[in-house]
Amino acid sequence: MHIVHIAVEMAPIAKVGGLGDVVTSLSRAVQDLGHTVDVVLPKYNCMNLSNVKDLHFRNSFAWGGMEINVWFGQVEGLPVYFLEPQNGMFSVGCIYGRNDDGHRFGFFCHAALEFLLQSGFQPDILHCHDWSSAPVAWLFKEHYAHYGLSNARVIFTIHNLEFGVNNIGRAMAYADKATTVSQTYSREVAGNPAISSHLHKFHGIVNGIDPDIWDPYNDHFIPVPYTPENVVEGKKAAKEALQQRLGLRRSDHPLVGIITRLTVQKGIHLIKHAVGQTLERNGQVVLLGSAPDSRIQNDFAHLADQLHSSHAGRVRFCLTYDEPLSHLIYAGADFILVPSLFEPCGLTQLIAMRYGSIPVVRRTGGLYDTVFDIDNDKERARAQGLEPNGFSFEGADPSGVDYALNRAISAWFDAREWFNSLCKRVMEQDWSWNRPALDYMELYHSARK
Ligand code: ADP
Repeated sequence: MHIVHIAVEMAPIAKVGGLGDVVTSLSRAVQDLGHTVDVVLPKYNCMNLSNVKDLHFRNSFAWGGMEINVWFGQVEGLPVYFLEPQNGMFSVGCIYGRNDDGHRFGFFCHAALEFLLQSGFQPDILHCHDWSSAPVAWLFKEHYAHYGLSNARVIFTIHNLEFGVNNIGRAMAYADKATTVSQTYSREVAGNPAISSHLHKFHGIVNGIDPDIWDPYNDHFIPVPYTPENVVEGKKAAKEALQQRLGLRRSDHPLVGIITRLTVQKGIHLIKHAVGQTLERNGQVVLLGSAPDSRIQNDFAHLADQLHSSHAGRVRFCLTYDEPLSHLIYAGADFILVPSLFEPCGLTQLIAMRYGSIPVVRRTGGLYDTVFDIDNDKERARAQGLEPNGFSFEGADPSGVDYALNRAISAWFDAREWFNSLCKRVMEQDWSWNRPALDYMELYHSARK
C-alpha cells in the first residue's frame, strides 16, 4: 500500500509536540511492515536540516499565483518532500503562532495535493492530521478526487481537539475514516458537535513510541547504556549526570521529572503543587518546560527564581525546549509526572517507561489507557496482558496529586527492591508501534473496501 502523510510537523526536524512524533514513528512502523510511505511537509526556515539526509532541490511548480520549490531528503529513513513557496510564507522563524497560520497551512494543503497530482503520484491513502492539515480532506473530496488522485482514501487523525474545531468538524465530514490517539479520548470527545455525527467512522488507536529513537541502550545523551537487566546501574549514572549538569545535590533522593509544554491542558496548578509536595517529601525536582504564553513563562520564571534560592540544589526549572536534556531526564528521573487536565494520548509517560521511569499521571485520555495504577488497576492491566506500571489519580485538585505522589515517593523510600523491580518491569512492556501500526493498517484497508 502507498501512504502519503500531509503534515505540518515531523520529528525531529519540525516538532512542536506529539503530532510530530507520531508522523515520524507511525510512518516508520508502517514502512517496516513493507508498505511505501511518503511525507509532505512545508519547508520552514526554522528546521534543523542537519537531521535531513541528502537534501536536494527536486523541481518547482506553479500554483496559486506563485512558484513552489520542492526539495527532497530522508528523515529517519523516510522520504520527505519539502514544499517551499517562493514568497517565503514558511520562512517566518516558527511553525505556529502567527495570525495567518490558518491561511498558510490551507495554502500548504492545497499545494501538497497539487504537487502529488502534478508529479503523477497514485497514493492509496492520504493521511492528514489535526486542524492544520484538515483541509486536505475536503480539498481532496471536492476537487482532487475527480482529477487523477481518484484512487486515494482520506484518513484524518485528531491529535488534539482543543485546536481548530471548525476545521476538524469539516474534515470529519469529508474523511473516509477518522481516528484519535487513544480509546478513552475517543469516548471523552464523542459528544463534541464536531464529532458526534461521525462516530460510525471514528476510532481510537493509541499512539506508540519509536523504540529506536527512544532507546536507553543506544542514546548519545545518557552516560551508560542500559537495558532492563542493568536498569539500576544505568539510571544511577544518568541521575548523577543530570544532577551534576543542573547543579543539583549529588545525593540519592527520589527525583521527579516533568517534561512538558507549559499550557493549561498540562495541569499547571497541579504541576506547581507537585513540585512543592516533592520537596516537602525530601525529593528532587527537574522541570523542563516551554510556555507558548508569555504570562505562563514569566510566572514559572518567577517561581524558578524563588525555588532555586529557597531549595538550592534540590530543584531546577529549565524553561526551554531541549530535546537532548529531555533524554537525560527520562533516564535520570525516578518518576515522570503527567497531571494533564486532558490528554489525547500523551507520549511522555510512554517514553518514561521505556527508560524505566515510573509514570505518575492523572486518569484521563491516553494516560488512563496506558498507565495502570499499582494499587487500583491490577485487573484492568491483566485484561490487557500487562502488570500495573505506575501511579494515578482522579480529580483536578491537589489532594489527587498527593494521593498518587505520596504513594510513589513512599514506595521509593520504603521498598527499594520492589521499586527497582518495577523499573525493570515497565521497561519490559511494549509501548512501541508494533500493535498500533497493525491497527492503522487494518483501518487503511477498511477505508478501501
Ligand atoms: P503534546 O503533544 O500535547 O505536547 P505529548 O506527550 O503527546 O504532548 O508529546 C510531547 C512530546 O514533546 C514528547 O516527546 C516530549 O518529550 C516532548 N517535549 C515536551 N516538552 C518538551 C521540552 N520542553 N523539551 C523537550 N521535549 C519536550
